[in-house]
Amino acid sequence: MSSKRDYYEVLSVSKEASCDELRKAYRREALKHHPDRNQGDAEAEAKFKEASEAYQVLSDDEKRKVYDRFGHAGLESGGGGFDGIGDVFAHMQDLFSEMFSGSMGFGGNARPRRGADLRVQQRLDLREAAFGCKREVSVHAPTACTDCGGSGGKAGTKPEACPQCRGAGQVSNARGFVMFTSTCSRCRGAGRIVKQPCPTCAGQGAVERARKVMVTFPAGIDAGQRLRVPGQGVPGPQGTPPGDLYVEIDVDGDERFERDGTDLVARLHVPFTDAALGGQALVPALEPDSADATLPVAIPAGTQSGAVFTLKGHGVPRLDGRGRGSLMVVVQVDVPTALSPRAKQLLTELDSELRGEATSTKRAASGT
Ligand SMILES: [Zn+2]
Ligand SMILES: [Zn+2]
Repeated sequence: MSSKRDYYEVLSVSKEASCDELRKAYRREALKHHPDRNQGDAEAEAKFKEASEAYQVLSDDEKRKVYDRFGHAGLESGGGGFDGIGDVFAHMQDLFSEMFSGSMGFGGNARPRRGADLRVQQRLDLREAAFGCKREVSVHAPTACTDCGGSGGKAGTKPEACPQCRGAGQVSNARGFVMFTSTCSRCRGAGRIVKQPCPTCAGQGAVERARKVMVTFPAGIDAGQRLRVPGQGVPGPQGTPPGDLYVEIDVDGDERFERDGTDLVARLHVPFTDAALGGQALVPALEPDSADATLPVAIPAGTQSGAVFTLKGHGVPRLDGRGRGSLMVVVQVDVPTALSPRAKQLLTELDSELRGEATSTKRAASGT
């Protein structure tokens, strides 16, 4: 038997390595030795193959058990059912497509089965976002060609199986002994081609057009969130399903409130006399049916600047429909800036009265 390296050693992991550790180790090794990065390097290719084989065995519970008990011999004698090299690479393909989603230049073997997603932004005001609304969203993007029903073929013709990939949508190329699968360049993965293209859309199945999509924004939606509208994206190539439309939400600022999740924060200006003596005030409220609703709040005597009154159930509705957050009213005590001579006189009297009181209070406090 050849001097095969221990699988755990190949992947530099312990015998107790978890699935996740194995995966990470394999990914690291495979990236390092991938033939695309090591053109014509036979040693790298061998290492790549070795890592793939080790991963295939160790990631399979049954095979790993056999390997742990009997080593390489256990697998070669057929006891564990080692499936051979072909399977190693089939397996590797799966893992690679999953790891890179065709984005790292290994051939992009993700077959497009649907159209691309679209993204638009929609601005709502605070009340619309809080209580929900319906809006027509304008989407400027390809739409299915009505003349050919999205097939891209001239009226009366049918798409045919692509001769280059025989309808599979993918082609495999051997590079050394490694098989690479990539999207068919002729049909771009659709598996079908159009012999006589539709004149309206030049065989694309879609034409660029502005269209309106009615979107329902649920109560409680917030800036930075996005809604998915299924099936309102770009039509798929040659009649495959369309992608989705994603609507990204922007919420305008409101001068009366700041929003903090499901809570609203409002500032309430209270004259310093009210703050000292107590009183009533009206605070702005967010209500679905009125743009300038208010709520009465009692100001207790001795209210300080920065005091917060929490009005439960007067905030923003929760997205899950379970009630509303709170309206937090932050008090700002206003001190008069222009005083009449009499007001000044009264305040001076008040001042000496309060100082006397403070001194006696201090005395009382230090006595305890
Ligand atoms: Zn057409
Ligand atoms: Zn093809």
